[in-house]
Amino acid sequence: MNIALIAHDKKKPDMINFTVAYTEILKQHDLFATGTTGKKIQEATNMEVHRFKSGPLGGDQQIGAMIANNEMDLVIFFRDPLTAQPHEPDITALIRLCDVYQVPLTTNLGGAEILIRALEQGLFSWRELIKKNDEQGNEE
Ligand code: PGA
Repeated sequence: MNIALIAHDKKKPDMINFTVAYTEILKQHDLFATGTTGKKIQEATNMEVHRFKSGPLGGDQQIGAMIANNEMDLVIFFRDPLTAQPHEPDITALIRLCDVYQVPLTTNLGGAEILIRALEQGLFSWRELIKKNDEQGNEE
């Protein structure tokens, strides 16, 4: 599965703890992240992470483009609800695209704990089916 990992600055410690705790599960998948989040995950876990631009510089939009192509299977986004972000429109757009494409999304640690266990149990296999149907649809 392709998994997006994004954390706002005050939530980066949560993201580090989360990815360290679940490295064994996450490393079996393809990981994508915004710039700084990805760098910190790589440093803490040694996992391979495809890093996009930093969020405020367009990283959220780059991940959004993957969602629009139905190439993202899960978005784990630790959003800071108490700090104004300069790229708020990009954040809203990312969340909107998850809703457009029915991509599982969590914006907090509680949801991430549940989704990572679902991932471990293979409950994301329906995503393969959707992607296959999407590919066939594009060929028609
Ligand atoms: P960052 O971006 O990982 O580059 O800090 C995250 C964000 O603020 O959207």
